[in-house]
Amino acid sequence: MDSLMENVKQEVENAAKRLASLFESRMKSPADMKFKNYTPGEGHPDWAAVRGRADELVKEASGVVEFDTGTVKEKAAEAARISDALATTGRSMVKNYRRFHSGNHTLLPPFFIWTMHNKCNFRCVYCDNHRGSKYFDLPNENVLDTEKGKQLLDVCRKNVTGIYFCGGEPTLRKDLAELTDYAHSINYFPLMINTNGSRLHKMLVDPAYSKWLKQMDIVIVSLDALNLDLLWRPGA
Ligand code: SF4
Repeated sequence: MDSLMENVKQEVENAAKRLASLFESRMKSPADMKFKNYTPGEGHPDWAAVRGRADELVKEASGVVEFDTGTVKEKAAEAARISDALATTGRSMVKNYRRFHSGNHTLLPPFFIWTMHNKCNFRCVYCDNHRGSKYFDLPNENVLDTEKGKQLLDVCRKNVTGIYFCGGEPTLRKDLAELTDYAHSINYFPLMINTNGSRLHKMLVDPAYSKWLKQMDIVIVSLDALNLDLLWRPGA
């Protein structure tokens, strides 16, 4: 029993060392920053300064964000979430198969995209809502409030397990953490979001978002220009 405990203790110590070195590696100095497929040019950002600021933000956020991989109980809950979602996907595939072979081509999708609102703090020239308008020019009408949003998640979850939170810019919604947490709690998988990244530095130091990085399966950050003046709405 003693040697078993010794082994467990050793494993825990090794895991702690691995985590510490992972954290260290995130804290590389600006001088370590290298690019593979890009050469910095005139008018581009001062990358050393950007990296330095990013390191400061990581330090700020590290007091709030849950970086660890979770307790055994949390890992079991995650496995249960994914299994439950895969079971739904399996049932939907069977329904699709039956529908298709009976001539009904209204098939269930593997995931849905929720345009949470039209607001955006960027002004990308190529912005398009797939109908020829820019999101930021559209009135912010018929937006589901938090409770209606949860109802939408409940209804869609019956047959669909993947969700892609989009906008406009979804991180401008004040209830985003509540809605992603709710989607996580009812076993959506994968939980995805598309963001311009402009608010991540504020979100990640907000305790309301402490679990957010652990819960989201995919965070897609669009970096569409190297000059913020090209993207940012004056006064935003
Ligand atoms: S970040 Fe997205 S929604 Fe906002 S202006 Fe750019 S393309 Fe449009």
